[in-house]
Order: sequence, then structure tokens, then C-alpha cells
Amino acid sequence: MANPCIECGACCASFRVSFYWGETDAAPDGYVPAHLTQAIAPHHVAMLGTDQARPHCIALQGTVGEHVSCTIYPLRSSTCQEFTASWENGIHNPTCDRARANYGLAPLTPESLHF
Ligand code: SF4
Ligand code: SF4
Repeated sequence: MANPCIECGACCASFRVSFYWGETDAAPDGYVPAHLTQAIAPHHVAMLGTDQARPHCIALQGTVGEHVSCTIYPLRSSTCQEFTASWENGIHNPTCDRARANYGLAPLTPESLHF
């Protein structure tokens, strides 16, 4: 399997994706498009679509579990950058497993990763 995230996207449609507002382009050094975020606290924002009962990030394109892409990939927040597929770099990520399970996808294994 190549990068399994291309055929998944479950984490982008399972959790609230929040981060410091200063990462948005509303701040001098920010880059995440602010119009794709909403305020959730005085200093924090969330990607639109993720602060709801059935999260689905507005920037996620495609069908979860089939083929997806992030339309702002180079501009995604630190929260997104730091979320790694399970067993990437040899580290298990149970949250990745949980997101995949939400969509009936089996957890990744060390053998299934060939980035
Ligand atoms: S910004 Fe991109 S990587 Fe981050 S949750 Fe949304 S679709 Fe996923
Ligand atoms: S849930 Fe895991 S495998 Fe799926 S896109 Fe997110 S990090 Fe990648």
C-alpha cells in the first residue's frame, strides 16, 4: 500500500480539528485560510465542519475510505501536520485506529505502511 491516508481521510471526518488562531492568515504570521475556520474559544479556532456531532472538515475532498485529498494541504494547521498515520515512523497511533474504525476500516499495521 502506498500512503494509506490517500485512501482514508477518516481522521479529517471524525474529530474536532482545533488550533491556535495565530495559525490562521488573520494573524501576521498565520497561513491557514481563516475563512475556513470558526472561533471556538477566545484564542482557538476549529476547521469548519469539525465542531459538530458528525465532523467533516470543509477542506476534505473526496470520499472517506475511498479516495481523498486535503484542498489546503500545504496550508494545513499544526494539528493536522502533527497527526500521523498509525505506525508511521514505527509509532502506534490509536486515534488513527479509532478514526478508521468509525468508517469500518481496519487499523493500519506496521506491514501496511510503505510511504
Ligand atoms: S485541513 Fe486538511 S488535513 Fe486538516 S482536517 Fe481538514 S482535510 Fe484534514
Ligand atoms: S485516520 Fe490514519 S490512515 Fe486515515 S487519513 Fe488519518 S492518519 Fe491517515
